[in-house]
Amino acid sequence: MEREKQAKISCSSCDALCCQLTVVLEARDAVPAHLTARLPSGLQVMAKDEDGWCVALDGQQMKCRIYESRPIVCRSFVMGGPYCRAERDEHARQGDRNIALHLT
Ligand code: SF4
Repeated sequence: MEREKQAKISCSSCDALCCQLTVVLEARDAVPAHLTARLPSGLQVMAKDEDGWCVALDGQQMKCRIYESRPIVCRSFVMGGPYCRAERDEHARQGDRNIALHLT
């Protein structure tokens, strides 16, 4: 059963839910400044569009436009891992895409 569930999770057929999360940048990230924003708390993050998606996401292809230089936190997000599964479950419960959580 768990194997079947795992097999259904794929970035190529995902709603890119992780690209709606708040992506906190680290000093060693090399993301173009125009794609970033600063939260009132002072944290530097990936900027979001009006619908809550990361501005680096190509919404047509559902692919990261800066994949080769994507932030460290995006690189460490494990497809099908516990956090991915938790987000997918929460998305299914809420029935919408307006989720915004910190990866940290
Ligand atoms: S930088 Fe790329 S991988 Fe990271 S949230 Fe934005 S679109 Fe997704």
